[in-house]
Amino acid sequence: MDCIFCKIRDRQIPKEFTYEDEEIMVFPDIHPLKPIHLLIVPKIHVEDYLDFNNLELAQKTKYIIDKMIKEQKLNGKGYRVAVNGGGSQLVSHVHFHLMGPISRTE
Ligand code: AMP
Ligand code: ZN
Repeated sequence: MDCIFCKIRDRQIPKEFTYEDEEIMVFPDIHPLKPIHLLIVPKIHVEDYLDFNNLELAQKTKYIIDKMIKEQKLNGKGYRVAVNGGGSQLVSHVHFHLMGPISRTE
């Protein structure tokens, strides 16, 4: 399996993590669309958002997304949490984009 996020997890591709624990890793998107653009990535290889059904891990992922929003001081500045799925994703390993600052009209 040729998955770039699994390779990052396994340290085959060097990457500085913004956050890491045994189940989740966070690192900056290589092509940032906003000044802050992080990817929150469960370490387990799950192909698509709809296959991400471990609710305990989903809840923990939300907790880490929320922690990143607060740590990056995006609350009040505007942010977007986004998932691409169902074939619209570039990398088929479930992940959440956190982008900001972002205004209401964007
Ligand atoms: P998507 O699968 O469409 O939700 O987007 C995948 C995202 O991963 C894109 O925004 C890419 O810029 C990003 N990306 C791809 N390879 C890397 C990498 N090696 N390090 C960091 N981000 C990456
Ligand atoms: Zn993977």
